[in-house]
Amino acid sequence: MLYINGEWTKSSDSFEVINPASSEVLENISKASPEQTNDAIDAANAAFPMWSKLPAIKRAAYLHKVADLLRERMDHIAAIITKEMGKPLPEAKGEMSLAIDYLEWYAEEGRRIYGETIPASTENKRLMVIQQPVGVVGAITPWNFPIAMITRKLAPALAAGCTFILKPASATPLTAIEVIKACHDAGIPKGVVNVLHGSASTIVNELMASPNVHKITFTGSTEVGKHLIRQSADTVKKVSMELGGNAPFIVFEDANIEAAAEAVIASKFRNAGQTCVCTNRIYVHESIAEEFSKALAKNVNELVVGNGLDSGVTIGPLIDEGAVSKVESHISDATEKGAQVLAGGSRLNEGEFKDGFFFQPTVLTNVNDDMKVSSEETFGPIAPVFNFSSEEEVIERANNTEFGLASYIFTNNNSRIIRVSEALDYGIVGVNDPLPTVAQAPFGGVKESGIGREGGRQGIIEFLEDKFISIQMDE
Ligand code: NAP
Repeated sequence: MLYINGEWTKSSDSFEVINPASSEVLENISKASPEQTNDAIDAANAAFPMWSKLPAIKRAAYLHKVADLLRERMDHIAAIITKEMGKPLPEAKGEMSLAIDYLEWYAEEGRRIYGETIPASTENKRLMVIQQPVGVVGAITPWNFPIAMITRKLAPALAAGCTFILKPASATPLTAIEVIKACHDAGIPKGVVNVLHGSASTIVNELMASPNVHKITFTGSTEVGKHLIRQSADTVKKVSMELGGNAPFIVFEDANIEAAAEAVIASKFRNAGQTCVCTNRIYVHESIAEEFSKALAKNVNELVVGNGLDSGVTIGPLIDEGAVSKVESHISDATEKGAQVLAGGSRLNEGEFKDGFFFQPTVLTNVNDDMKVSSEETFGPIAPVFNFSSEEEVIERANNTEFGLASYIFTNNNSRIIRVSEALDYGIVGVNDPLPTVAQAPFGGVKESGIGREGGRQGIIEFLEDKFISIQMDE
């Protein structure tokens, strides 16, 4: 269902939503036409003057109501997340909690858009800066966090006074519909929030061409992000880009080996390795590499692959066949070049797995920098363990990538924590911490991992424009 100007609507064309654990068709969803996309733009544009002038405390009340409704509906929506994208139910609930955090945190942050006053150079002038919402926002989101990636954009945009057109990933439209239902049930006025499904290029071409859409916020692959940056140039839109990663996870010789091996499970295998901040390369000091790899393989062998709705399952299916093939190609590339498989290594396609896209969680050792697992984002459950011998060497190898989103270091040496954190070319550094993402802190990347930040006080600035007002008084 499409949601345009406060009403649910359909179209003559549709696409199927598939459960990746079973290949079952869950639902048929209408595809938005160019005309319907323009209706949404018109609705968001018409609603903007009213919504942007509403006192922030009133916008906050709406966002709190949306958060309350999502919390009430957690069991229902978490099951939808698991069915349409595969992550285990406890992870789906964890994602919902994060999604709700964004709504509640930005409801309050919207009340702290202060602006500033600036000392003038002459006695008869007063200088001030006010911050105003950028306007209509087009938001394009991925399937791997089908709810948190929406509210991380929706909450600051609405709190700032912007109106919103969402184009969620085609793999996960059902979760997006639940978010919009909560907005509708919370009484958010018509036109403020709209959702369009279907062909990404059809919808986004209209958003990009419109002079009434002032901001594009995107989370997804670097390849599509680059395309959108180019496309946004024609109408000079403000853009925020949350793109791909290739996260290094560095374990120094003074680290707690057990804790680091446990942390890889959270950082690498959460969401079956399909997160942008997922550990992609594990660098372990050569003096502890064997001990660490054994501890890691033991933990990995305890993971339980299966349908995310079943209790006890810790690894669900990958999103589609293409994702499984990519994982297979990274493993065969590595083994042909000399890597060894310490755990896992194969797709699962028999018995309960036969109709889904399942892959065994895998540990590779004897890995080197010429392999695809070193240079490409695998986006799947492979943990490749590289060895290193010095701090300088590992910093250079960790930074030797076009990406710069998340990085992780494990060490108990305070000076090293500061030195290495400062030297890593990444937007995020987790120090003895595999899960640094929280609503109140800035999230985002450098280099080809993106432009701008989401989360924290920085996240709302992306939806605001500074207006400088210079007032000359009578003599
Ligand atoms: P994707 O293929 O780039 O898709 C993301 C979104 O872009 C979807 O809504 C997709 O729509 C849309 N899209 C695809 N082609 C488009 C086009 N030509 N024009 C406009 N929109 C287009 O990425 P994904 O496979 O969903 O997500 C995985 C990637 O996202 C990974 O690289 C991951 O690292 C990154 N990611 C980054 C962050 C972050 O915060 N930095 C967070 C999560 C994920 P359809 O679904 O309809 O194709």
